[in-house]
Amino acid sequence: MTLLELVDVTAAYGPVQVLVGVSLAVPEGGAVGILGANGAGKTTTLRAISGTVRVGGRIVFDGRDIRGRRPEQVAALGIAHVPEGRGTLTRLTVRENLRVGAYLRKDAKAVAADIDYCLDLFPNLRERIGSAASALSGGEQQMLAVSRALMARPRLLILDEPSLGLAPSTARSVYDAIARLRAESGISMLVVEQNANLAFRIVDSAVVLETGRSVLSGTTAELKGDDGIRKAYLGA
Ligand code: ATP
Repeated sequence: MTLLELVDVTAAYGPVQVLVGVSLAVPEGGAVGILGANGAGKTTTLRAISGTVRVGGRIVFDGRDIRGRRPEQVAALGIAHVPEGRGTLTRLTVRENLRVGAYLRKDAKAVAADIDYCLDLFPNLRERIGSAASALSGGEQQMLAVSRALMARPRLLILDEPSLGLAPSTARSVYDAIARLRAESGISMLVVEQNANLAFRIVDSAVVLETGRSVLSGTTAELKGDDGIRKAYLGA
């Protein structure tokens, strides 16, 4: 079953048309990457889904057209967006950030168990549980941002460049944890990533954006075998 489908999505910032026709689909339980150069419209595509930019076209989540819904409505439907730049609440502690992620939930026992799961997934956070988010390293802040999103128990996790600004080994360990999360939870994912080698650790398929349009899509194996993709995104 398709969980999320975008059909010919368009978006503009004021007079500047940024998306001119983006189509993609995320199957239930699947993980899809969005590849593309700087400025291709990857972040805007994610913002179109989570309701922070005005869009045209069709965005269907779980059978419902969600285009034009407000961000909090989209979140309540089960879509959690980890933005570029992470967006943790810097003055709050790690534990408080995790609790904020669960603010819509009433099931205290399950919330506590989910906090424990996040700390198991990202052991660095367990050591920093009482620290302010502002005191964390870049990698730890990314781990916290992902964990906070998970605390809402989303059906779809949207990740915008989880590797941005991280040392290669830190980026790999963040991706390893996301891969483990995927294997254990079956949560669906949509991942923007400049570094296709990292994205391909977790996604089954990807779409390529060029100047606001989806121009190519394929399975991870197909894309790895494509000369153009290898040259542009895999450092071959
Ligand atoms: P990057 O990897 O650099 O973030 P991207 O593929 O995610 O690139 P977007 O951030 O979606 O691209 O930006 C697409 C285009 O929209 C770019 O040309 C960018 O300059 C422009 N843009 C992004 N945000 C705004 C904004 N708030 N107002 C006006 N133009 C914007």
